[in-house]
Amino acid sequence: MFESLGNRFSNAFASLRSRGKLSNSDISNVCQEIRQALLDADVALSVVEGFVSRIEVEAKAALVDLQAGSNQAQAIFEIVNQALVELLGSQARRVRLAKVAPTVIMLAGLQGAGKTTLAGKLAKYFADLGDTPILVASDLQRPNAVTQLQVVGQNAGIPVFAPQPGNGVGNPVEVAREGIAFAKAKLHNIVIVDTAGRLGVDEELMQEAKDIRDAISPDEILFVVDAMTGQDAVRTAQAFQDGVGFDGVVLTKLDGDARGGAALSIVTQTGKPIMFASTGEKLADFDLFHPDRMASRILGMGDVATLAEQAKKAFSGEGAAKMEEKFARGDDFTLEDFLEQIAAMSKMGSMGKILGMLPGAGAMKKQIENFDESEIVRTKAIVQSMTPAERRDPKVLNGSRRARIAAGSGRQVSEVNSLVERFTGAQKMMKQMRNGKVPAGMPAGMGLPPGAALPPGSFGGMSAPNKGNQPPKKKSRSGNPAKRALEEQG
Ligand code: GDP
Repeated sequence: MFESLGNRFSNAFASLRSRGKLSNSDISNVCQEIRQALLDADVALSVVEGFVSRIEVEAKAALVDLQAGSNQAQAIFEIVNQALVELLGSQARRVRLAKVAPTVIMLAGLQGAGKTTLAGKLAKYFADLGDTPILVASDLQRPNAVTQLQVVGQNAGIPVFAPQPGNGVGNPVEVAREGIAFAKAKLHNIVIVDTAGRLGVDEELMQEAKDIRDAISPDEILFVVDAMTGQDAVRTAQAFQDGVGFDGVVLTKLDGDARGGAALSIVTQTGKPIMFASTGEKLADFDLFHPDRMASRILGMGDVATLAEQAKKAFSGEGAAKMEEKFARGDDFTLEDFLEQIAAMSKMGSMGKILGMLPGAGAMKKQIENFDESEIVRTKAIVQSMTPAERRDPKVLNGSRRARIAAGSGRQVSEVNSLVERFTGAQKMMKQMRNGKVPAGMPAGMGLPPGAALPPGSFGGMSAPNKGNQPPKKKSRSGNPAKRALEEQG
């Protein structure tokens, strides 16, 4: 997310920190670097000028106040951080629920912006909060939009009101109106109306959106926009604002190579907050938009708060409680537990995404890119090819069992050996931890909340990109895997 911009900020601050006492001309230079970085990220010129001149004034004032020897570079970093948070909207506003249900949310935006996908994510977000949302299929224009919404609804477990087939057939205003009436009758407290977009802004599109708006009086009109389109996103937003009006922005495709122009310009240019962020095609790739976390990412400090939240969600529930009890009893960490952990981690999204939220992720870019996501699938296949008894006690895995597991999972025996070896290392680490020791090679404080910590086995069976984080490999004394397992047992 905004990698190039993040690298430019990091470089600018690295050069500031490397200096001793800072002068006004150092400030001017860093402001020049920031200005160019923002322009290259396709941030609107007027936004860039306002941002940079504010930083320049505040940073020069800070130099006068700070004594030599105090951490001037850090103070300037804080000034830039604060200015970025404000540029992104300070405290993002949340959806206002109507005093009398249902709350009506209308989605607007160009075709392909991600409205239909977003409709499902938003509905799931509310359902997870205990609301009872329903989706209304008022995009009767785009081929297959109605079917797509039905599929999205099915995946999210949300009902869809779709009385018309779409593909040019049916009246979208009527469908929207009937959808609200249906929601009231069936006591749904939130209605999300998906509307048609066009390839570009045109009068017909605006008129249809206005007609739907007037028919259903939405509590929130959310403008959905593809973050990868940079300043074009801002121009489209302004056209929608003039034509239809909206209350908040949803940025989509933040997982792609968006440079940051849309995110950093849209709040200033439209005066409306960014409320949600979409970061992928799956239902789970969605979050509230947090200006401070986004600023933190841009400045290379990662997004540990989001990581912690996701981990807490993925590692909560019955499975996690059972695992905690198990460890409290002193039971061994087994391959069955390991399999459960892989499943929980998969819920958090791709490994690349998880690692990308860690501070300094910019510097690990290559390793993160090289992380082989299919390794998780392979590891899972190997563990699933074991019998429950083998998973509980991998020491029984002799040569012939390993050959059977390799054949069953379609992998090489060497891969089975390597997994067992790494798992054994992880298991040892767990034992040491239980005995109160912090094992060498343990990932240094992931910043996860209590109860959400990833036991080291989470990485034990996979090629984590940072080899330094892996349990130290013991040199095996025997070439025979069965013998080796016995030796390790000893
Ligand atoms: P609509 O025309 O506005 O309803 O757009 P869709 O919801 O059909 O989305 C257009 C395409 O973008 C689809 O292929 C989606 O899977 C994809 N898409 C939507 N949101 C995201 C996102 O946040 N990230 C990525 N990578 N793709 C997305």
